[in-house]
Amino acid sequence: MLPKYDLHIHTNYSDGSQTFEEILAKAEEIDLKYFGISDHYEKNHNYSVKVSADEYYNHFLKIKDEASEKGIIMLLGAEVGFNDEEILLPENMPKVHYIIGTIHQMPKNLEEVDYWNLYKKYVEKAVSEFSFQILGHVEGYLPINKFMKPGSTFEDRRNFEKKIAKKYFELEWYKEIAVEMAKNKIALEIHEMSESPRTEVIKIMVDNGVKLSYGTDSHALHQLAKRSYLRRVNEQLGLRADNFLELESFLNR
Ligand SMILES: [Zn+2]
Ligand SMILES: [Zn+2]
Repeated sequence: MLPKYDLHIHTNYSDGSQTFEEILAKAEEIDLKYFGISDHYEKNHNYSVKVSADEYYNHFLKIKDEASEKGIIMLLGAEVGFNDEEILLPENMPKVHYIIGTIHQMPKNLEEVDYWNLYKKYVEKAVSEFSFQILGHVEGYLPINKFMKPGSTFEDRRNFEKKIAKKYFELEWYKEIAVEMAKNKIALEIHEMSESPRTEVIKIMVDNGVKLSYGTDSHALHQLAKRSYLRRVNEQLGLRADNFLELESFLNR
């Protein structure tokens, strides 16, 4: 049973190339009945939305109404970074249905081992203490710039992340954070563009009662229809509808 939604989509208000209008038109074309926009809203982040919260929110409401006339439900989320002190909510932010917590900013002066231990510490702190609904791309789209050579490709980056995940993000560690996530009702994101996290990780989460969320992390229209990793995970794990987040819980927020 695959969820019919996509909760991780960027517009040209942050670092996407697509407008609200184009996303809605594409959703209609590919029969995506539920989706959530999740632009970057993050302190000290270049891609964080720059227009006022009112301007952004009013535009969202207009498109959301158009969507609902077509029978499409549109939510507003935000992708927000965190570290081991706080979730990096900016001042000027609209009211959202959900927050995807992710790590984009890390200190640059650490050696590899310390760097990834700190990354894990951020995750541990966030899932036990911070208020957000979805842990996003936990072992994909990692903050790896400082380790990559100039000219590295999309594939190079994904391969490097897979090595990092295997080397530093032990399954035992995931069992510990899964307990906290289940307790605090934080869902785990299946991240289409980086094809992560590993199916073993997703299984640990499901076994511990953590709900799954799904997001393509689309920055361009053609990425919206991509569901190949989701299908592969489902073939391996045989997921049930109730393993996934129910969007109704967000609609009342
Ligand atoms: Zn991200
Ligand atoms: Zn994103």
